[in-house]
Amino acid sequence: MISFPKQKSRIGIYLHIPFCPHICPYCDFVKTSKFTKKDVNSFFSELSAQLEFFLKKIPVSTNKEYATVYFGGGTPGLFDAFVYKPLIDIIRDRFYIEEMTLETNPLTNIKRRFSDYLSVGFDRITLGAQSLCPETLKILGRKHTRETVIKNIKWAHAAGFNNIQVDLIYGLKKEIRTINIADEIQELNEAGATGVSAYALSIEKRTLFANKDIACDENAALEYSLLLNKCKSLGFKQLETSNFSKMETYHNNIYWYGMPYVGIGTGAHGLLPSSEEHPFGIRYRIGEEEIKSYAPGNDELIFSQQENRMKNFSIHFEPSRTKQEYLEEMIFTLLRTPKGISLSWLEKVTENKKISQKILANAKIKRGIEEGKIILDNDSIFLFDEEKIRGDLWVSEFISLIK
Ligand code: SF4
Repeated sequence: MISFPKQKSRIGIYLHIPFCPHICPYCDFVKTSKFTKKDVNSFFSELSAQLEFFLKKIPVSTNKEYATVYFGGGTPGLFDAFVYKPLIDIIRDRFYIEEMTLETNPLTNIKRRFSDYLSVGFDRITLGAQSLCPETLKILGRKHTRETVIKNIKWAHAAGFNNIQVDLIYGLKKEIRTINIADEIQELNEAGATGVSAYALSIEKRTLFANKDIACDENAALEYSLLLNKCKSLGFKQLETSNFSKMETYHNNIYWYGMPYVGIGTGAHGLLPSSEEHPFGIRYRIGEEEIKSYAPGNDELIFSQQENRMKNFSIHFEPSRTKQEYLEEMIFTLLRTPKGISLSWLEKVTENKKISQKILANAKIKRGIEEGKIILDNDSIFLFDEEKIRGDLWVSEFISLIK
C-alpha cells in the first residue's frame, strides 16, 4: 500500500497571493507588480469568499480534522500578519492547523513582521533566495543580495522560526554562477536555514526569458549532484527530488503523496477529495479569464485594465479524474519521493496481479536496477538519489507499462 508520511493532515489548503514587488524574468507564476491598495483589498475580500466556498466542498467528519496551510505566490511576505488573520480564523473554525507556511522574498521582508507571523500561527517560512551569487542574482533579475538573504534567515530564526526553507535555482550556464552551489548551501545552513528547495532553471514560454539561452542541462546535472551531496552531509534529508530538509514538510507531502487540496486565489488549482460521483477526485482551477488577459511576454496580470476583476471569480472544473489519470499522476509524484512506488498498491489499483512482474521484466527497468539507478526494496521501487533528476524518463517508462 502507499505508505503515507506520518502526519495528521489529509488535506491541504493553498492560498495564492499574486502580488510582487517586481517581475522576475524567469517566472511564469500568476502574479502582478502593478496593483493598488484597492486591488489588494478587493483581492483579500474575494479570497475569503473563495475560501468559504471551497471549504463547503470538503465533506465534514464527526471529529474536527487537521489541515496544512500554505500561503504562496506571488509574494505573501509583502503583507503584515494581520492581513492573513481573518483567513486563518476561517480555516481554524473548521480545522486544526498542523503546519502553516508563508512564502517570503528577502527583498521585501521586514524584521518585525517575523514575530507577528509566528503569533498568528505561521510555523514555517520559505525564503526565495534563488542564489547567493551576485552574478546569478543579477541574471535572474533578483534585486536582493547575499547579505540580505543571510540577514533574513537570522531574523526568522531570532523570532522563533525553526523551519526555514530556502529556495534555490540551479542549472544556469556554467560561467554564470561564480559561487559553488554547495558553498551556498553551507552558508545558508550556518545562518540557520533548515532546508533547501532547489529547482533547475526551466525556460518558460510566457516569460521574459522565453528566447534566452542561459539554461544548461549538463551543468544542471552537475550542480544537482553537488547539492545532493552537500545536503546529505549537512543532515538535510531528501524528501523529494527538489526538496531537502532537516524538518518534515507536511503541506508538500499532500502533493507528493496524492492527497486532496483546496487551492484558492487567481490561477490556483485544487484537487477535491474522492466521492461517489468522482471516485478519483476532481481537479479545478480558478480564474481562466483573468489569466488569458495577461500582458504578453512576462505573464503579468494587469489589474487596472479591468475594475473588479477579482469579483465573481470563475471556477473551471476538469472532467472527473479517471483511474488511469490518477495512476499516472501518482507514479509521477511518487517516483520523486524516497518511498517510491509500492508494487502491492499498484497491483491493487490496477486490479492486475501481474503488473509487478511486467514492470520487473521490462528490459530498461531491469537494467536500471542492475546499474543501481533504480532500487527495489521488498515492496518498494524507487529511483536512486542522483537518478531522481532524470525522473521524467523513468515516469514515461512506468506509465507505458500500465496502459
Ligand atoms: S519569482 Fe517570485 S517574486 Fe519573482 S515574479 Fe515570480 S512570484 Fe514574484
